[in-house]
Amino acid sequence: PTHTAPAARTAHAVPSAECTIVAAEGGVPLVTGERVEYANFDYAASAPCLTAVADALAAALPYYASVHRGAGHHSQVSTDAYERARRSVARFLGVRTEPADAVVFVRGTTDALNLLARSVPEGCTVVVFESEHHASLLPWEHPASRAGRVERLPLPSSPEEAVEAARAALSAAPEGPTLLCVTAASNVTGEIWPVEELVAVAHAEGAQVVVDAAQYVPHLPFSLSETGADYVALSAHKLYAPFGSGVLAGRADWLRAATPYLSGGGATQLVTEHDVVWNDLPARHEAGSPNVLGAVALAAACEAFTPAAQELLHIRESALLERLRAGLAEIDGVRELALWGDGHPRVGIVSFTVDGLPADLLAAALSAEYGIGVRDGLFCAHQLTRALLADGHAQAVRASLGVGTTVEHVDRLVGAVADLVAHGP
Ligand code: PLP
Repeated sequence: PTHTAPAARTAHAVPSAECTIVAAEGGVPLVTGERVEYANFDYAASAPCLTAVADALAAALPYYASVHRGAGHHSQVSTDAYERARRSVARFLGVRTEPADAVVFVRGTTDALNLLARSVPEGCTVVVFESEHHASLLPWEHPASRAGRVERLPLPSSPEEAVEAARAALSAAPEGPTLLCVTAASNVTGEIWPVEELVAVAHAEGAQVVVDAAQYVPHLPFSLSETGADYVALSAHKLYAPFGSGVLAGRADWLRAATPYLSGGGATQLVTEHDVVWNDLPARHEAGSPNVLGAVALAAACEAFTPAAQELLHIRESALLERLRAGLAEIDGVRELALWGDGHPRVGIVSFTVDGLPADLLAAALSAEYGIGVRDGLFCAHQLTRALLADGHAQAVRASLGVGTTVEHVDRLVGAVADLVAHGP
């Protein structure tokens, strides 16, 4: 396909030329009527599009057609792009080849974990921490889930306690298939969970592990081969590609044995009056016309985030995060949410409350008066967020960093919170 550059846009300077974002022109309006450059601190909800992703989409757009179905040239180009995208995502996630891991395109992390909940062997025991995002916590308990017993473990007071609690729960689990579900990086505190240690104890107890990497992969490389995790789930829109695409990758045996997650075309090999022969993986769990552009966009993001680019971005982002945390810590009444204390490694996310300022009011004032976009609420992890909130608060504010975050943004946010504490919204 010819490469058509999309319309004019601004790219922020970051360590890798591939890892620049498409920024909206013209800034955002303040309550005063003035316009300022948008200071986006909501990367953890959805990250803006990378320029490399926009370019890949622009190149694929003239050719998009239904994949695995059409005989025409555009269908062939699209099918080729879709399967190339699968290989890129596979490389990005360090999939194993012997036996080959499956890479199933889904709509996002929520979809991926619901697919797995419907694919585990009937009666499977699932162990999960109650601190999880609802996407990792709830699918196992859905009526359509094939899990039997679901055990929710309380918030661990240290990473070591998390590993010990998982070991104890898995060793006490009834005989039979068992799955541990864990999030690699918390969407509330940014804290990084001890995935490799959890995989080691789970495997020693004969259990499998699924990792929710939605918040981890936009910041750090994740590899199935290196961590030994059995499955991983992610969302494109948190990895600088548009909505509606994601991946469940991992061991093929449970997925291959399961009835397709969705029934319909593409998942079937043959349908007769009395019978349906389902396809093998990955088509088995990709019923309906696949989201080709979503897959192409996700793959372009995966290709842009080479390990070297991710390492540079992580160094840069860690410095910005420390600047933000140090700035906020200087302000009276600001309290950061953390499960495991100050020194624990984390990705670029900080949630906090400000004494005397409700989170929704603070978030609204940051937007209207300073052009700063944060999120307020309980972040789809109600048990964790409520447990960590300072007394008297019903919600927190979350500031999350990414590729387009600058020192000016960080300083603007710290200055704005200090102003609002001093003078009120
Ligand atoms: N897991 C974590 C840790 C998340 O932060 C999110 C999104 O907020 C999800 C899962 C769900 O992702 P999606 O909404 O793309 O399905």
